[in-house]
Amino acid sequence: MSSATRHAQVIGAGLGGLTAAAALAQRGWTVRLHERDPEIRAIGAGIYLWGNGLSVLRALGVFDEAVEGAHLGPVAESRDRHGHVVESIPINGEHGPELYTILRRRLIDALAGAAARAGVEIVTGSTAVAATPDGEVKFADGTRRRSDLVVAADGVNSRLRDSLGLLRRRVRMPQGAARMLIPRRPGFVAPADEAKYIEYFSGSRRILYTPSSADRLYVALVCSTGDEHARRVPLDKDAWLRSFPLLEELIGCLDAESRWDRFEFLELRRWSAGVVSVLGDAAHAQPPYLGQGGGCAMMNALGLAEAVTFGEGDLETRLRRWEAAERPVIQHTQRFSYRLGHLNPLPDRPRAALLAVMNRSRSLARMRMRAATTIPTGMNRFPA
Ligand SMILES: Cc1cc2nc3c(=O)[nH]c(=O)nc-3n(C[C@H](O)[C@H](O)[C@H](O)COP(=O)(O)OP(=O)(O)OC[C@H]3O[C@@H](n4cnc5c(N)ncnc54)[C@H](O)[C@@H]3O)c2cc1C
Repeated sequence: MSSATRHAQVIGAGLGGLTAAAALAQRGWTVRLHERDPEIRAIGAGIYLWGNGLSVLRALGVFDEAVEGAHLGPVAESRDRHGHVVESIPINGEHGPELYTILRRRLIDALAGAAARAGVEIVTGSTAVAATPDGEVKFADGTRRRSDLVVAADGVNSRLRDSLGLLRRRVRMPQGAARMLIPRRPGFVAPADEAKYIEYFSGSRRILYTPSSADRLYVALVCSTGDEHARRVPLDKDAWLRSFPLLEELIGCLDAESRWDRFEFLELRRWSAGVVSVLGDAAHAQPPYLGQGGGCAMMNALGLAEAVTFGEGDLETRLRRWEAAERPVIQHTQRFSYRLGHLNPLPDRPRAALLAVMNRSRSLARMRMRAATTIPTGMNRFPA
């Protein structure tokens, strides 16, 4: 099967869709990318990108561009409400996995640039509503387009996935987060801690402190969906201050207006139907406790481009092989992250004890970092 004349339609210009579109085009496919919004948006604020996601950026040839100005922290810590360290994961050193924190806008722009340079036709304001296994996509304006391959990367509420009846299980988790980017300045934490990634726990609330560039701090406020004061928008700063009195200065500088997202977990019966593949949050959404939803979406998109271009057999066979190769690591990661969500409702002491056990266990550390330390399929093929 020659890919030279093959055509793909990719639905959704998030991390998954942009990566898939760029990787396919770099491998000789003609690609049309449909995004429903009038422009390509970066939803969220900052993002943790581990070794696997960073490898994908290298494979696409946009690593330097994406990480320019990004933050490279020395350690990721969990702390209790008194500021005591209960877990400490070394990163970026001799023994730790690679991790950058990046502004989402910069990452999306780098991926969109890779797609455009590879010749992807990007069509904004184009909403897909359904697909059929033979590769036909129906759009909201009534038009239909057929292609050899369809990649549905249309996010957690994927209409294409649902039109194909692929969903096996969807869990709307009882937690969510508000995310924001604020100016980074001294005084939020002790001077010795400023470059670290720190997750503070107090009751069922968490505050994630994430330097993401020299002058921007990404902050996520995580709480249960039933915690009406904590999830309020505009932000109820007093509610957060009661839980985290040590972080008074930081909380005082938070944006009152922010976006609140509920966490989701979902699994599909299969990742493809005929020549339609599904990836990213549409196929394997996960709560963000491992910071791997985006990394897995990118890794899977690169693996897909490799499998459909260089695999053996017809396209449907190649898609089944792609799923068999990529699903074990991604499903493991989703499930591990899901279980980490069970820490939230625990009282502070047993949670600290559990985190301390996790901190000591080598096998748990390996399981936790399985995706982060995975070398994505397709890493050996750099763009021409
Ligand atoms: C609080 C929080 C923190 C997170 N932190 C991290 C982190 O640190 N690291 C990490 O790796 N991941 C993180 N994630 C997960 C990560 O953001 C997602 O896994 C990732 O963005 C999913 O990318 P995607 O391309 O699959 O979907 P999306 O980003 O949802 O993109 C889907 C795109 O498709 C478009 N679209 C939707 N429907 C249609 C349609 N019908 N037709 C055309 N276009 C359509 C949308 O407009 C959108 O542009 C976090 C998630 C949350 C909620």
